[in-house]
Amino acid sequence: MVRRRVFADFSIAPVMRFRHGKATGKLSPPAILRHPHGCPTHAQCLRNVLAHMSDRMGIAPAQVLAVAATENACCLLQAAGISVAYRPLHETVAHAAAHVICHSLAELLPMAGAVCSVGGLPADAPQAAV
Ligand SMILES: [Zn+2]
Repeated sequence: MVRRRVFADFSIAPVMRFRHGKATGKLSPPAILRHPHGCPTHAQCLRNVLAHMSDRMGIAPAQVLAVAATENACCLLQAAGISVAYRPLHETVAHAAAHVICHSLAELLPMAGAVCSVGGLPADAPQAAV
């Protein structure tokens, strides 16, 4: 429901378990957090979402702008083409990202343009770094 309200293409959340029509209170991690060729450190990791996106959408990690605030996204930030720590909750998040934004998300807009530029390059062209 939140995904629709913010017009996101997809969302990732734990799977709530039900039994006989009632919530059991148990949550399972979503399968998208696992990937056979994803994060070399963690079996379940947000970096694996990036691997699934690459597989399904035919995009390279260099074409992805990742924005995160929490430590569980450090691997994702390190793997994405452009990474932004938005109001990072821990200094390790800021170190994992190439950029840190502490004020407005509007600061992302020029970076999004850079990702589009990277996406427009031929596959054998050198990747731009921001
Ligand atoms: Zn990881």
